[in-house]
Amino acid sequence: MNRTQLKILLSKVEGFEKPKVKLEQYLTPIELAADIVYTAYMQGDIQGQKIVDLGAGTGLLSIGASKLGGRVYAVETDENAVEILQKNIEKFKQDITIINKDISDFDEKCDTVLMNPPFSVHSDSLIEFWDKATDIADNVYGLCPSNSTNKVIDLVEKKDLNVRTFQRYNVELPNTYGFHTEERREVEVDLILTDK
Ligand code: SAH
Repeated sequence: MNRTQLKILLSKVEGFEKPKVKLEQYLTPIELAADIVYTAYMQGDIQGQKIVDLGAGTGLLSIGASKLGGRVYAVETDENAVEILQKNIEKFKQDITIINKDISDFDEKCDTVLMNPPFSVHSDSLIEFWDKATDIADNVYGLCPSNSTNKVIDLVEKKDLNVRTFQRYNVELPNTYGFHTEERREVEVDLILTDK
């Protein structure tokens, strides 16, 4: 499957029915989701690898990684999201293990973490997600708002991992992200890649 085919596939994944502000739920833009999964694939971090999708939501990254040959574990706390995730897994006939838990209760090591974590408008979730990701894997492909990139790089380096590179994107966040003054807001987001 090439990148365009992956994008077409991901555009058919169902998103959140009623996104929850507190959990900072939003579907990753398709271009960006395809970049995350395809970059990992090209680096050899998907095919035949054990992959954990932290905050899997309705399964965009999980389904992409599974289609490209990964053994995927999807960790998601919210039951409503998990219901849609389950339907998406059936629709795309993938063998993905759902773990309906908070990421703080998940401790299994894996080869690769893929994640689009909450950006912490309301909480410390961003750092909690990066902390967990770098505890369980050396190869992390994760997003973070650009104004927190330095903080994430510090954390990664404290774990004796390297930041291989990062790529900057402009992303439109919906008002379910908890902004009260505007309908939508554009933020700069970095896709950060780590290794040992
Ligand atoms: N990965 C999905 C969803 C990203 S939104 C996609 O790319 O479309 C972030 C997700 O993290 C939401 O589904 C939210 O419910 C989940 N989440 C937030 N805090 C969590 C926690 N502590 N443990 C597990 N999942 C969490």
